[in-house]
Amino acid sequence: MSHHPPVPLGTFPTPVEPAPRLAAALGLGPDDLWVKRDDLTGPGGGGNKIRKLEWTVGAALAEGADTLVTTGAPQSNHARLTAAAGARLGLDVVLVLRGSPGVSRSGNLALDGLFGARLAWAGEVDQAGLDRAAAEVGARLRADGARPALIPFGGSSVLGARGYARCGTELREQLPGLRTAVVALGSGGTMAGLVAALGGGSVLGVDVGALADPAAAVAEFAAPLTTEEVDAGRLRVRRDQVGAGYAALTDAVSRALRLAARTEGLVLDPTYTGRALAGLHAAVRDGDVRPGERTVFVHTGGLPGLFGHPAAVAFAEEGARTFGD
Ligand SMILES: *Cc1c(COP(=O)(O)O)cnc(C)c1O
Repeated sequence: MSHHPPVPLGTFPTPVEPAPRLAAALGLGPDDLWVKRDDLTGPGGGGNKIRKLEWTVGAALAEGADTLVTTGAPQSNHARLTAAAGARLGLDVVLVLRGSPGVSRSGNLALDGLFGARLAWAGEVDQAGLDRAAAEVGARLRADGARPALIPFGGSSVLGARGYARCGTELREQLPGLRTAVVALGSGGTMAGLVAALGGGSVLGVDVGALADPAAAVAEFAAPLTTEEVDAGRLRVRRDQVGAGYAALTDAVSRALRLAARTEGLVLDPTYTGRALAGLHAAVRDGDVRPGERTVFVHTGGLPGLFGHPAAVAFAEEGARTFGD
């Protein structure tokens, strides 16, 4: 494992805030629920990927890289924050994205452009195809005399997960007696770091449908960071919020977006944090999370993705009420 120091990018610790109106709406006690504001990590619009990039980009810098290459979906928050980190550190960035130009608009893509990243569209490929396209981009950059470093999908690796172990340490100090941290589970590094710091029994991951076996990824990234045994089969992972797939907007997520907005003025996104809140709601209903237990909802960011998701924007606008009706 790499022992390069992290490069400071974010502002930590992020705040925790009480959410009494949301708690009551979910069926929890008014003092039970807190929100960890990891949407406020700092540069590039904020979000969970900053904590992981501090480590993965730190390693890239230590290796002498001058260019960051990473992969993702068109509305990848990780790709957007890699672009922002590169801009801040004076590094070139190439984003290898699934699909073709025009498949997706606005949202994260607008910010990728603003940060000056170059885009390489890989077509409709699976993760292996995306990784091959990234390797080809790396080879071309090296042939041109650049020194590229590949940042893993979602920024998730054992190294990237270290950033989330730090978030877990912050939570232990900010919320003594914490019973459950609820977080969206995409590429796995975020939940893995929290599991390493808080223990597997204290973290509820809500799968968004990005991986075939998300629990295995979490266990792989978490195990080297803790002396405790991490058993993939015993992790608390909910897979009931995926719906028709990663990019789909489910009714439960639509309701969750509206609920957070109208109880706490809190904006969630349709892919990650909306699913995490829908998963928390389901967990309260089936008794996995109970009133009287101290619970934290880890807000991992993703706001630009709301504006890159036409169905979510349409749903949000439908909710506008005309004064006088
Ligand atoms: C990437 C992402 C997640 C999931 O984090 P992973 O470490 O990939 O599991 C959660 N929320 C948002 C907003 C994200 O962009």
